[in-house]
Amino acid sequence: MRLDKLLANMGFGTRKTVKTLLKAKEVTVNGRVIKDGKSQVDPDKDKVVVAGEAVEYQEFVYFMLHKPQGVVSATNDNLHKTVIDLLAPKDQVLDPFPVGRLDKDTEGLLLLTNDGTLAHNLLSPKKHVDKCYKATINGIVNEQDIVAFKNGITLNDGFNCQSAELDILSIDVDAEQSIIQVTIHEGKFHQVKRMFEAVDKSVTYLKRLSMGNLKLDETLEIGKYRQLTEEELSSLT
Ligand code: URA
Repeated sequence: MRLDKLLANMGFGTRKTVKTLLKAKEVTVNGRVIKDGKSQVDPDKDKVVVAGEAVEYQEFVYFMLHKPQGVVSATNDNLHKTVIDLLAPKDQVLDPFPVGRLDKDTEGLLLLTNDGTLAHNLLSPKKHVDKCYKATINGIVNEQDIVAFKNGITLNDGFNCQSAELDILSIDVDAEQSIIQVTIHEGKFHQVKRMFEAVDKSVTYLKRLSMGNLKLDETLEIGKYRQLTEEELSSLT
């Protein structure tokens, strides 16, 4: 691939900025200063160094985002801030996209990547990747609800959900509120909210804790993100 493209993809700025770097003799390939951005390099074999620092070429990026409320799970939106807007410009260069959607008012784990195969595998209905959520429910969740979730909730539009595991974490009788954890094995639009609507309750707060083997790193502040570790990535593939 072209040297200027590789450098732009690795976050060294636009092709124009990269041109300036090259002109300033800041870039070497296998120890030789290269000033021509059109020069071809093999990212797997050639050693590219910028201002004394080796450049590791990455084709794919994988970020764990602690999604805040108020941003949409899309790559662009005319009205709202998107999850991509939360990434530094250098992390947007390889065009990551959200793997699945969380509602605007849902927070928690969201994976962002440009690896279409991984995204497809995680989202494919055939793979039944578990998604675990913590939620605050308006209403007292009871044993009957646990059994109904286990047997498969029928949504108000007639859709039959697969069995889901519902656990009650705490109940505030005075406030008529319950805190629960639920694990679902599919990913329909507004699924958790609609499952509770089907048992005459409503979700007032929703947070995704995990997706498949990937768990939200609770040390990540809301709105922050980081690269997946190698271990996390291999647990997903
Ligand atoms: N279920 C919902 O209702 N909303 C989400 O954002 C995710 C799951």
